[in-house]
Amino acid sequence: MPHEDYEAVIGLEVHCQLLTASKAFSPEPAAFGAAPNTNVDPVSLGHPGTLPVLNERLVDYTLRMGLATHSRIAPRSVFARKHYFYPDLPKGYQISQYETPICEGGYVEVEGEGDGGVQVRRIRLRRIHMEEDAGKSLHDQDPYATYIDHNRCGVPLIEIVSEPDIRTPREAALYVQKIRQIVRYLGICDGNMEEGSLRCDANVSVRRKGETRLGTKTEVKNMNSFRSVERALEYEIRRQIRLLEAGGTVVQETRLWDADRQETRPMRSKEEAHDYRYFPDPDLVPVVVTEERLAKVRAALPEMPEARRRRYVETWCLPAYDAAVLTEERGVAEYFEATVAALAAGATDEEAAVAAKAASNFVMTDVLRVLNERGLAVEAFPIAPARLAALIRLRLEDRISSSAATELFERMLEDESDPEALARAHNLLQVSDAGALLPVVEAVLERHPKQLQQYLGGKEGVLGFFIGQVMRTFPGAPDPRRVRELLLERIAARRERA
Ligand code: ADP
Ligand code: MG
Repeated sequence: MPHEDYEAVIGLEVHCQLLTASKAFSPEPAAFGAAPNTNVDPVSLGHPGTLPVLNERLVDYTLRMGLATHSRIAPRSVFARKHYFYPDLPKGYQISQYETPICEGGYVEVEGEGDGGVQVRRIRLRRIHMEEDAGKSLHDQDPYATYIDHNRCGVPLIEIVSEPDIRTPREAALYVQKIRQIVRYLGICDGNMEEGSLRCDANVSVRRKGETRLGTKTEVKNMNSFRSVERALEYEIRRQIRLLEAGGTVVQETRLWDADRQETRPMRSKEEAHDYRYFPDPDLVPVVVTEERLAKVRAALPEMPEARRRRYVETWCLPAYDAAVLTEERGVAEYFEATVAALAAGATDEEAAVAAKAASNFVMTDVLRVLNERGLAVEAFPIAPARLAALIRLRLEDRISSSAATELFERMLEDESDPEALARAHNLLQVSDAGALLPVVEAVLERHPKQLQQYLGGKEGVLGFFIGQVMRTFPGAPDPRRVRELLLERIAARRERA
């Protein structure tokens, strides 16, 4: 039976490390990248007699995510202990949430390519819960030993569990991208998959098309990019279908993605929930979320990408494509909006739309290119929005040519002077003053009597040659339209004299 007769069913569990200053239940720094075993304390090392104290910011960050994903927020939720033995888990259990997570029943929308254009698919979320991270086992430091770094013990996480609503590896990658975009917008996680601050486990099963029951799933771990999520799922789906086609059955297990070999391989048989001996953590009181607290978090939420996109299209008539690129990252969207605000202060709606399109062109091409080339975040971009606006204004008023605008932009990256002064200093301002241009116009006509004869004899294309000569010999940037006018004027005067 060919592959087309099967469909895949995918549900993802995404873990996000929260950008809180301190750990989930203790005051040590939660930051990534410190020397091994320096961000440790008796609580996260599980010393006897120590007690966890909840970091309220963990709750607020999780509430942001819950609200941004349209989840129901539990007025009262409970922390639970999840037990397992592993060398990087000194307490012997992880504090998590089990029976009563803080958020349930939300959704995110993923835009994929469907039949006939963009198709929006809603992926339901089963739950979002709070938990703490475990430490890290380092297998690559010594050929005979595994080292343990406890810095990560107790770092706050949220786990976002989807319903099995995803149908293709591509959609799974888009879903993870969406989650990353949301947590970055909310400022609660940096979304760095390589460093592991955003991690994704993929549950996948296959079934015959038309079948409504779910097949047996496997869980794939260890993907550290969107691409590897897609590749790992493609591999795993193919493997399961082949197995079924050969008369075998899928074993429920956890498998590891091996990026070097581009394959998944078994890691452990799947544990059941009861293996973890979950029970409510007696050291922690239930988390109570009042209406008042929720209202406060809601009021502080940023405008999310979809809303921004709609606003750009509606108020500034930007193409949907521009709006999508500009809102991809919150920092870029804010940079763009600050540029438009500086350009369009006191402008009519129509002028504002022209300004917005000009700003969009600059941000989408030049600004994003430089950020990309230099590996910079927009917050560190050397040209502030007001200065970019000044550059764009020179261009909109036709005081610099488009190539001069590009050159000025490059100079502004290195030089903080006033954009107009910089343009003047480098002869980039278009000269349309007849007094300055005429001597050069006359000189060009003097120097090329043969071409002038040709022109007067009816060969009008020669005008382009004259314009080119003036542009080249003038010490600065002449306005080409003005040069053309002056040439026609001087040629007419000569014809009269002749
Ligand atoms: P487990 O108890 O093994 O952790 P859960 O029911 O909690 O399984 O689901 C974990 C994740 O697996 C969820 O994202 C869910 O959508 C997904 N999932 C559950 N059953 C299947 C299945 N048969 N095929 C694919 N994904 C599934
Ligand atoms: Mg699970």
